[in-house]
Amino acid sequence: MLVEENALLRLVLEELPHGLCMFDGQDRLVLANRRYAEMWGIPEPLTRPGTAFKTIMAASTANQNQQTGLKAMPPDGWSGVHVREWTLTDGRIIQVTVTRLPDASTIALHEDITERRRSQEQVVYLAGHDQLTGLLNLAAMRAVFEELLARNAAGDEFAVLCLDLDKFKRVNDSFGHAVGDQLLAQVALRIQSCLRHDEQVARLGGDEFLILQCGTTQPESSKSLAKRVISALSEPFNLGRSVAQIGVSVGIAIAPFDGICPDDLLKNADLALYRAKADGRGTWRYFEPQMNAKAEARRALEADLRVALAQGQFHLVYQPQVSLLTRKVTGAEALLRWQHPKRGNISPVEFIGLAEETGLIIDIGRWVLAQACLDAMQWQASVRVAVNVSAVQFAQSNLLRDVGNALSNSALPADRLEIEITESVLMQDEKQSLALITELRDLGVFMALDDFGTGFSSLSYLLSFPLHRLKIDRSFVQNVDTNPKARSIVRAIAGLGNNLGLATTVEGVETLDQLKVVQSEGCIEVQGFLFSQPCPHSELLDLIHNLNHSPVWSALEEMPHG
Ligand code: C2E
Ligand code: CA
Ligand code: CA
Repeated sequence: MLVEENALLRLVLEELPHGLCMFDGQDRLVLANRRYAEMWGIPEPLTRPGTAFKTIMAASTANQNQQTGLKAMPPDGWSGVHVREWTLTDGRIIQVTVTRLPDASTIALHEDITERRRSQEQVVYLAGHDQLTGLLNLAAMRAVFEELLARNAAGDEFAVLCLDLDKFKRVNDSFGHAVGDQLLAQVALRIQSCLRHDEQVARLGGDEFLILQCGTTQPESSKSLAKRVISALSEPFNLGRSVAQIGVSVGIAIAPFDGICPDDLLKNADLALYRAKADGRGTWRYFEPQMNAKAEARRALEADLRVALAQGQFHLVYQPQVSLLTRKVTGAEALLRWQHPKRGNISPVEFIGLAEETGLIIDIGRWVLAQACLDAMQWQASVRVAVNVSAVQFAQSNLLRDVGNALSNSALPADRLEIEITESVLMQDEKQSLALITELRDLGVFMALDDFGTGFSSLSYLLSFPLHRLKIDRSFVQNVDTNPKARSIVRAIAGLGNNLGLATTVEGVETLDQLKVVQSEGCIEVQGFLFSQPCPHSELLDLIHNLNHSPVWSALEEMPHG
């Protein structure tokens, strides 16, 4: 019986996936399984009972690198269970659980926990890292940040750099997300290659990155780091079959002057970044205290803008578009006005940008469309209404539906609505823009390209997009009567329109001299202060009826030819 039991125990012992050994009170081996010997590289003869622990350890080929278990060895005469961890020079981690019995003999279980540790580390790594780029993520960066601030009792300077890629969205939109991801991974590598000792980068998400720079003199070091990063990211990126050119804007805040907690430093670096973007991108800016005041003002304006529509603070004014041939009003451009309860009239130049950034332009623009169509129903059927539509509406809203609703609610015939877009509409996702323009055209709506000559003025746009009209920007008209170059541009655009079968309208005609010149250069439709400032709807009704009696006509006839 005893023999059988022993054999059985031996078998269990040998089959155990862990190492097991037992020593008596004098630290002499009582028993050990094969796995124990394998783990520690102990020669077979030494695994026989009676061998001293010291002898076994001395002969072990598995070099114990360090003891990584947290607990110190218990004092002499201890009993109970004690767990220790060993990291061997070959990378294995062995956990040893020792149970000491009252008679001072010990049983030890040896487990190879290398894999378990790796996957735990992997989990910790994943929680602290951005999967796409392998950089730290915001949570991990925050921890680094806090530790740095805690350590930095002396108040040493360090810099926080907020980075935001320029033109990344365009790459993502035109080449797809997979290519966008590839680009981000390359960007991460390039940023890392710019970093020196004591500089750490994290990806905050999207195309935003954060660098912490310490142990150097400020502001010089952060400036040179920003320059290095900007120059590294302005080089073209090779993305398989495509090449992308992007850039980066950088905002910098320096501790302790610009803040002593992560939130303040991040916020201020972000304000500086906002300024860098506004100042034309591809550049860096330091935080300045007045940025806070500006951001405050912006936030206040944004809050007011959010309620303006619901509180009926918007109204439309109209500026007539006049035909020099028929001397009649052919159309009127609807221009948005905001009557702020405290600040009075605010120019669209001041709030349209903000409305676009916040997405509020979508609701506002929908209201403009609806109101303009309603108003136009009161005009002669020959007068068209022109409505400005922002690139954001084009990209994000259901513009086709909004236009359809505005037309059907007002019963305005589609061919009396003209939508003014800028080149930024054509540049963002050309395929989608083309589809939408075509659908709007199919509805019967007219399409005009606003501010022509100021943007890229790419001729290929004129060929690939089915437009009806070019509006020659008023900057060319300003000095068309004094500057031959401006005059040549007006002539060229009018000629281009003619040849491509596009109508042209000259904007911003303020004087008779300007009118004379644009007329002689072949322009037929004009818009500007000379005929009328943008005016309330009621005044427009008068203008439509009486324009042929305008004093402009007789003055024009009296002008000398030449
Ligand atoms: P825009 O579309 O180029 O509108 C023409 C601007 O030129 C208007 O400024 C108008 O008042 C001004 N203007 C007209 N004739 C003359 C002139 O003879 N001389 C000068 N110096 N200026 C003239 P406004 O009303 O301040 O609008 C500015 C911009 O705001 C517009 O430029 C347009 O881009 C935007 N905007 C206005 N209303 C809307 C709207 O309902 N939706 C959208 N998305 N944008 C709008
Ligand atoms: Ca316009
Ligand atoms: Ca314009």
